[in-house]
Amino acid sequence: MMNHNKKLSVTLIIVALICCFCLIIPEKAYAGSTGRVDALSYKMNLKLDVKNNSLNETVTIRFRNGTDSTLRKIYLRDMTPAILRYDMKNYPDDNKGLKTNIDAVTLKGSSKKLALTYKKRKSAVLVDLGKKGKVKPGKIGIVRVKLKTEIPNRKDRFGYQQTAKGKLYALSFCFPYLADNVNGKWQLDPYFDDGESRSWDLADYSVVLRAPRSYKVAATGASTTKGGKTVIKASDVRDFAIVACNFMKCDSFKVKDIKVNNYYLDGKYKAKYRKLTRLICKDAIKLYIDEIGKYPYDELDVVPCLFGFGFGGMEYPGLVMTNASSTFSGSMPDYWSLSDALSHEIGHQWFYSAVGNREYSEGWIDEGFTTYLERQIYALYDGDANKYLRKIDSMVPPIKRIKADNDDLMKTARKDFRNIHLNVAPNKYPKGQDYGEAEYEASFMFLQELRVQMGDELFSCFLKDFYKKYRMTRVTTKSIVRFIKQYDNTENMQKIIDFYIL
Ligand SMILES: [Zn+2]
Repeated sequence: MMNHNKKLSVTLIIVALICCFCLIIPEKAYAGSTGRVDALSYKMNLKLDVKNNSLNETVTIRFRNGTDSTLRKIYLRDMTPAILRYDMKNYPDDNKGLKTNIDAVTLKGSSKKLALTYKKRKSAVLVDLGKKGKVKPGKIGIVRVKLKTEIPNRKDRFGYQQTAKGKLYALSFCFPYLADNVNGKWQLDPYFDDGESRSWDLADYSVVLRAPRSYKVAATGASTTKGGKTVIKASDVRDFAIVACNFMKCDSFKVKDIKVNNYYLDGKYKAKYRKLTRLICKDAIKLYIDEIGKYPYDELDVVPCLFGFGFGGMEYPGLVMTNASSTFSGSMPDYWSLSDALSHEIGHQWFYSAVGNREYSEGWIDEGFTTYLERQIYALYDGDANKYLRKIDSMVPPIKRIKADNDDLMKTARKDFRNIHLNVAPNKYPKGQDYGEAEYEASFMFLQELRVQMGDELFSCFLKDFYKKYRMTRVTTKSIVRFIKQYDNTENMQKIIDFYIL
């Protein structure tokens, strides 16, 4: 027979064990578990104030809890504090005292402000959903973000430019979004001015932008503008961008069944800019469809921005920004760079928009495949665009020469890239490594070596099959290596992989 004290201790131990069990055991797994918190849609109400160069945003984010645990907190990303800080530090003459502020994050139908904790130099915002906002496994949550940001005066992806002809606003990286979450872990990559660190999650956007009537608006997705109000819809996109400009015009045409809106500025070399970009769109889209696969959307907007000397373009889903600086007002129009950059950015619609990857730590994936499209497929194609380019720019070498240069690069690749691995994030680079060496150059060589090892025919199948399998999903270095080995599992191939991949 147990005495009372002993009985009490045993009871306490049992209670404690039950408590521990309850704490560590996850909630019952449900059938639809994806292990992710998934942004489903963004509804944005935007107002562009061209007098004060600011943007008012109300963004409603709908997300699904695909994990097995109740979600009590979420991370949002807002890159505007990091960008404004960067601009004030690096471009202080044009940017002083810039401000951005999240006024409130609320639940749908409530005006009560949720508690926010800022992390990662304010680029990550931890939102406590409170008792009413917690989201059970498989259920949907909705939060509304009210934000006001000033727009930097900068030749960049988020910034405005005042010219003699008028004003141009590039609006991207300035919309709040749900942080990526994999297996319950939030990915909070830092803002990175040289490259990108965006979400790879696919979502739908429904956007209304109000801007003065004189502004033409280009945006990700399909849009219509009437009386200063632009209504935009975009499905299955990883990011969203707008360009608004009061001296921009548009040519629209079809390539295969894709509607291309080719915008151009009313600038110095507009006729040649317009013709060259139109021909590049036609050749590049057709080539990439043939060599890789289906274009992921119904439309593509090609939009001129003023990034300044030495800068390329920028990719977004269904929209690419070109650098029109030299053809808008420069004394030396640089058509060759324009052609390289535009054929590259269009390629990103296949690798970035369609096949997604984590841009910060595995930027080699989208940049490498796109560089391959630009340099090994587009640049070697003797189409109308390249013929016209050589006519208007005598500096462009013949195709034979470009091919020989590509081959020469391969001869020294093992020496040039002996200390470089592709799958290393910028904050983990060995001393002396710059952004781009791995992401563009070594990754291009990696794909060239794969092509030579597999042979042109098998490599072409590999590219098409790879695209078919991973289109509108996300890839990692690991999944690519696994896929490569299905096509070539020889010792030689392993040596190539071991050289480039850590
Ligand atoms: Zn790129």
